[in-house]
Amino acid sequence: MKKQVSIIFLFITTAFFLLACSTTPISGNKAFLLTSPESENQQGEEAYKDILSKEKVITDTKESKMVETIGKHIAAIANEPTFKWEFKTIQNDTPNAFCLPGGKVAVYTGIFKYAKNEAGLATVMGHEIGHAIARHGGQRMTEAMATNVALAGISAIGLANMEPGKKNLIMAALGVGATIGIILPFSRANETEADEIGLILMSRAGYEPKEAISFWDRFSNIGGKSPPAFLSTHPPSPERRDDLQRLLPKAQIEYEASAKLGSGKEF
Ligand SMILES: [Zn+2]
Repeated sequence: MKKQVSIIFLFITTAFFLLACSTTPISGNKAFLLTSPESENQQGEEAYKDILSKEKVITDTKESKMVETIGKHIAAIANEPTFKWEFKTIQNDTPNAFCLPGGKVAVYTGIFKYAKNEAGLATVMGHEIGHAIARHGGQRMTEAMATNVALAGISAIGLANMEPGKKNLIMAALGVGATIGIILPFSRANETEADEIGLILMSRAGYEPKEAISFWDRFSNIGGKSPPAFLSTHPPSPERRDDLQRLLPKAQIEYEASAKLGSGKEF
């Protein structure tokens, strides 16, 4: 009897872990998640509306058209059928960009001078989309729920029904902390994974992958008294450069097989 009970227990826990364990496309990493893609995407959509309502969204400009074109090229090969992709451009001199769960992308005009050309912009967008594809928002919500009893079960609640403190925490976990004044960097492992996914996606979409390294080199030259939040959450470290350099041959194969859009237009 005791043996039977323990077999049943083993079966249930194994089933639970299999259900909660998801494999990330491209990187092949395994992630343990207590949130569902549906709830993440729903909250991503709400957070997106919330932020866009407070920012100046621009349309029909050279910048916004580029963001849409690059976004559509990446979305076309990203194979994420549950995503409802949107690509918005925000008039704001702060260099910033994010992609919320479900494919809700925003690029701040302040990043354009560092992106320099379409492939540079594809680097930033691919990286942010990489965070969403790898469900890093869900992973951080899972961590928050595991370490904070008050947040247990919160993944199923809409942002509109949350008290402001919890709502801000969830928004920061989803990846838009910088926009609401909370600096919550992704872990180094998450950053490496987003870089890998982003580099492969941009190459498959036809953008020259070498430009990714040039972008991070340009970005590392931002100095000044108060560097933007995106810089502190995305430090252009030698480690990041080495990782990208290591992945470059693989990315180059993808690029050679693509429609080859090259570096694209300069801004
Ligand atoms: Zn990142």
